[in-house]
Order: sequence, then structure tokens, then C-alpha cells
Amino acid sequence: MKNRLTLYLLLFPLILHAQILKNPIPDKLVVLTFDDAPASQYSVVAPLLQEYDFGGTFFVCEFQPNYADSALYMNWRQIQELDRMGFEVANHTHTHANVSKLSQAEFNKQLSYIEDKCDSLGIPKLTNFAYPGYGLNSQALEFLEAKDYVFARAGGSRAYDPLSDHPYLIPSWATDETNKAEILSAFDQAKDGKIVILTIHGVPDIEHPWVNTPPELFKEYLEYLKVNEFTVISMKELEEYIDVDEAKRLHKPDFSKKLSN
Ligand SMILES: [Zn+2]
Repeated sequence: MKNRLTLYLLLFPLILHAQILKNPIPDKLVVLTFDDAPASQYSVVAPLLQEYDFGGTFFVCEFQPNYADSALYMNWRQIQELDRMGFEVANHTHTHANVSKLSQAEFNKQLSYIEDKCDSLGIPKLTNFAYPGYGLNSQALEFLEAKDYVFARAGGSRAYDPLSDHPYLIPSWATDETNKAEILSAFDQAKDGKIVILTIHGVPDIEHPWVNTPPELFKEYLEYLKVNEFTVISMKELEEYIDVDEAKRLHKPDFSKKLSN
């Protein structure tokens, strides 16, 4: 009995590996995500990503109260254009709401507003979500499950390990103008089955200077990723590697891990 248990414990990582991974996670895999729909994501970020042939996910919302100001935020035609350029458009709630404080009906309304808007513009069904302000709780995970969302991204400043992190508690690093050294050392952690995910706001971010990424710094990151031969993809493309249903079945959500920045 003891031997069988030992054998099981030895094999357990292999079993997990076989069930959760459809394909092995290559080293140097990075996911770029962009939050809040600031105008510079259309004018600066998208053309640069195209130039480098990198993928990316744009978590859009109508950031209150100034989303209608086109100097500050993208309009819906620009978001539609991101989809046409081949980028992923994903859900960040209608009003940038802290979803840990919402009832299921309120959460669904927040999600549906963005889903319907995208649907009316011919953008494919949204499958991924990012928690505004990293506000989350176990109830929010249940609501996402009921709506069939695939991945949900949080913060935490650590790498994503598909063999231990729940698909609704995906960690990421957030860039700002002060943490270049931290981000560059984060890229080193994209190995041994772990994936590095960045959360980027405006490039630059006029309305939220504490999450500002200067365009020169953003270009430096892209250049670093290119020169060092990283693979840079959207959240959606993670499905090529991860069997999300199996991951959800095998991982219990662990809220004791760091999930905000
Ligand atoms: Zn946000």
C-alpha cells in the first residue's frame, strides 16, 4: 500500500501533465494583454505589435466616466479594427466594475454589454476575461463558469503555471514606468512549463499615470522579446497548449496565492 502511494505521488505530476497539457509549453512563451481600452492601444500598441508580428489580447471596457473622450479612450470602431487586424478582443466588464461586489445578475449584465457590443460589430464570441482592479472572489469564478468563459486573468507578479494555477486565476505582471528591471527579469521566468503574462495599460496612459508605460519603454520590451526569440501570443492562443476543462476539473481555485499587484 505504501509503495503504491509512493508510486502514485511520483507519477502524479506526469498524470497532471498528460491531462492538462495538449502540447508541451515551450520556453520563452509570453502573453501580452492590454487593459481598459485607452486610445494609445489603437494608435501606438497595435501598429507596433503588427510590425513585430506579435499577438495580443485587448481587455476592453467603457472606462468611467470619460470613455467617450476619444483623446483618452478607443471608440468601438477602433476596437473592431483591432479584431480585423487579428488581435483578440476580450471582456473587462462594461464599466470597469469590481466584480467581487456584484450579484450574478449584475455581473452578467456587465459581461453581456461588452459581448453584445462586440457581436454587433462582427467580433467573434469573447472567451476570456480580466478582473478590473484584480477584484475577485470564489463567487465571481462561478459566474464566469456559468457564462462559459475560458481564461480569467488576475495580477500577482508571478509566472503562470498551467499545472498548478486555475484557469480563472491566471497571474500576470503589470508594467509601469518604474518597473523595467522587474519586467525584464520576469521574462527570464518563461521556462520549465511556465508562461509569462504582462498586463499593460496605456502606452502612454494619460488618465492613469500610475500604470503609464512610455512608448519608448514598450518598444524596448518588444525589441527584447524579438532579439531573444520569444514567442508572443494572445490569451486565446494558450488553448493550443492547455486543456482548460481538465485544468478546471483538476485544480481547486487557490486564493492564498498572490493574485493582485
Ligand atoms: Zn482595468
